[in-house]
Amino acid sequence: MTEEERIELADILFPNIDKEPSYYEEKYPERKLKEGAKVTRFAPSPTGFMHIGGLESAFLDYIFAKQSGGVFFLRIEDTDRKRFVEGATDLIKSSLESFDIMPEEGAFNGGAYAPYVQSEREEIYKTYIKDMIKKGKAYPCFMTEEELSEIREGQELRKEPIGVYGMYATDRDLSLDEIKAHLKNNDSYVIRMKSPGSMENTVVLHDLIKGDITLPENIIDEVIMKKDGLPTYHFAHVIDDHLMHTSVVIRGDEWVPSFPKHLQMFKMLGFKTPKYAHYAPLTKKDENGNIRKLSKRKDPEFSVEYYEKAGVPSMGVKLFLSTIINTNFEEWYLNNKDKSFMDFPFSFKKMPTGGTLFDMEKLDNICKTYFSRLSAEEVYNEALPYYEKYDKDFYKIMVDEKDKLIKFLNIERNTKRPRKDIGTYGDVKKESNYIFNSLFYTDDRYKDVEVKDKDILLKYIDVYSDSDTQDEWYEKIKNLAGKNGYAESVKEYKENSDKYKGHIGDICEEIRHAVTGRVASPNLYDILQILGKEEIKKRIDYFTK
Ligand code: GLU
Repeated sequence: MTEEERIELADILFPNIDKEPSYYEEKYPERKLKEGAKVTRFAPSPTGFMHIGGLESAFLDYIFAKQSGGVFFLRIEDTDRKRFVEGATDLIKSSLESFDIMPEEGAFNGGAYAPYVQSEREEIYKTYIKDMIKKGKAYPCFMTEEELSEIREGQELRKEPIGVYGMYATDRDLSLDEIKAHLKNNDSYVIRMKSPGSMENTVVLHDLIKGDITLPENIIDEVIMKKDGLPTYHFAHVIDDHLMHTSVVIRGDEWVPSFPKHLQMFKMLGFKTPKYAHYAPLTKKDENGNIRKLSKRKDPEFSVEYYEKAGVPSMGVKLFLSTIINTNFEEWYLNNKDKSFMDFPFSFKKMPTGGTLFDMEKLDNICKTYFSRLSAEEVYNEALPYYEKYDKDFYKIMVDEKDKLIKFLNIERNTKRPRKDIGTYGDVKKESNYIFNSLFYTDDRYKDVEVKDKDILLKYIDVYSDSDTQDEWYEKIKNLAGKNGYAESVKEYKENSDKYKGHIGDICEEIRHAVTGRVASPNLYDILQILGKEEIKKRIDYFTK
């Protein structure tokens, strides 16, 4: 086709496109950012499901943009209308909000590079496609589904690369008249790019995480515009990352094989390619000890919604993801009590290149450390909305007996080795329920409490006083021990164990058991102070009657 014919064809195919690419190049100028500032984007497809890998992706975008003084924006990739689910963008928004990693620009809050929803950018894509037609870099392809599958079958048999290329790209060189005849016939068509690639060549992906990867050059005449007039993901993201000036594309490594295709598109369009960082998938050890990718069907923890329902604090999830992103994060976090995760120097180079184990026990541990560093008031405030949503009864208790719960949460908190018994919001109730009378007597676990020495408990309640200091309190128990056949210290007991019924620790255990129903609790003196003499007596009576 001559240049005039190509221009005529472009106008026939896109009669309503009256702009040139230069219009958009001017409309969306370079961002004015300082040297080294990264522009990242989270580009989910609205499929109605937000998984932990997607969250990791957004988290990486957030971290690397923020730490470099750059921009993190959000783009909705909805050109595949078959996968589109109503309400899906709201889910993406609420997830990012709840993890406090909202992009400052994009589909939810606008910005200078709007629109940020691909289906609203049709005219932009078509402008570039029209230009490619004019330049002979793209063509309409009228091949039918039957023709395509026939080609594929042959290629599979002969073990050739699958797709439309070389001799299979029969519509590459249609004349203008032939195309006009197809159009007159109302034959449906897609637009394909004219790949300049050759099977002999390779390209190198300089991946920021995985290092250099050599891949075969793309030879396929990829579809860039589908029959419905919308671009394919591959083409749309190239146009968008160019016009929105993305500097680093951070995405899952399932996209590595598509890289040669994307690289070729950037080159054919005369665009500068962004940098790429392909991260490894999250994996899990299954029952048989095999490592496999986290799965939507098998693993509830794959869904981001799981964490909210399980009462896992969003900060805990972020800290956990940080340990996955950079393995040296964990040690840093343990040694830097007063720092935020954003103070850690995250680096692509330290990211794992193969699958990363998603270890729920580690998540629990890091959450426990996180909670142990909060004030009692903060734990309370963070847990309250969880109970308001998921456990109205305990919510009411929390509101009515706030002081009591705060006192409980404060036990052994501001110490060198703070308590680490709370890893989820649910643990707040689980660990504290016995301090609330309404829960203590109704909890089945306490029905089985058996006290061994009723007599000592009854004597104890006679001497107990709420106004005792911890030392005075301990002295009284010691006294009681001495008078009732118990050793006053463990040491003494060990030396002459046959002389005693037990030692002072055993009495404390007995008291603890009767007033909490448990064999372990935070500092007993503090628990007794919270309960008060009247309640302690009630519980002792309850278990000694
Ligand atoms: N829309 C693509 C997806 O959801 C995004 C891939 C990318 O980040 O470039 O998988």
